[in-house]
Amino acid sequence: MYKNLCYHTHNNFCDGENRIEEMLYSAVSLGITHLGISSHAPLKIFNPWSIPHENLENYSKEIDKLKLEHQNKIEIFKSLEIDYIPNYTYSFEYFKQLLGLDYTIGSVHLVRNPDSNELWFIDGNQAKCHESFNSIFNSNIKHAITSYYHQICEMITTQQPDIIGHLDKVVMNTAGHFFNEDEPWYIKEVAKTLEIIKQNNCIIEVNTRGLYKKKWKTSFPSPTLLQMANKLNIPIIISSDAHHTSELLGGYNEAAIIAKSCGYTKQMMFDNGNWKEIDIN
Ligand SMILES: [Zn+2]
Ligand SMILES: [Zn+2]
Repeated sequence: MYKNLCYHTHNNFCDGENRIEEMLYSAVSLGITHLGISSHAPLKIFNPWSIPHENLENYSKEIDKLKLEHQNKIEIFKSLEIDYIPNYTYSFEYFKQLLGLDYTIGSVHLVRNPDSNELWFIDGNQAKCHESFNSIFNSNIKHAITSYYHQICEMITTQQPDIIGHLDKVVMNTAGHFFNEDEPWYIKEVAKTLEIIKQNNCIIEVNTRGLYKKKWKTSFPSPTLLQMANKLNIPIIISSDAHHTSELLGGYNEAAIIAKSCGYTKQMMFDNGNWKEIDIN
């Protein structure tokens, strides 16, 4: 059952509010049987919402300890949500080796202008996001959005993440302001990205954070993208991206409805070190 699975969660090692143990107890009380711990991985530069590099060892040990202590109640996975920014981030392989990760989530939160090397933060406060878009991308939305998707494609081909985090999150602060998602150039860019995802056998998450935080009207990615992904038989996984115990299954009902409306009847499950398909029910 998809509501027993939760593979993308944050905790107070990064910008989440609760301790890993608190997330675990809440998960057990909600009937979650598979819980993935996925703090934001550190960048090579200071980043306020990531685990500081010096805390990685404690993060890893804490998860190992909880895995053992609670193995009869719940299956715990060690993961990281890893950013990819050329020149600014460590390789996914580096973290896999260092911590012994069960799987990786690859996300782009900071878009590099390939010409200037400046970074545009797509999340957070909308006014600030607009301001930095205007200054870093000179108000050129096509350049900004295509740079975002190119960065995702490069992440996929060079880092091989298992799961692609919130694929179209770049629309949250931009669509309806600077462009519309049905514009042909945008659809073309997305289609190219989905082809790369397909070729590299990645899973797309149906991320509900925008929905339950009331910051976006639908899932990341949108139903339009999910329909395109479904035509390519790209597998999905419903994720809350919880930063608090109360958010663990946030938006799951809506996500299942969205996924089904886009033609999906199955999602992925990670169990005993392997990915397999289960029915969405
Ligand atoms: Zn994220
Ligand atoms: Zn996240």
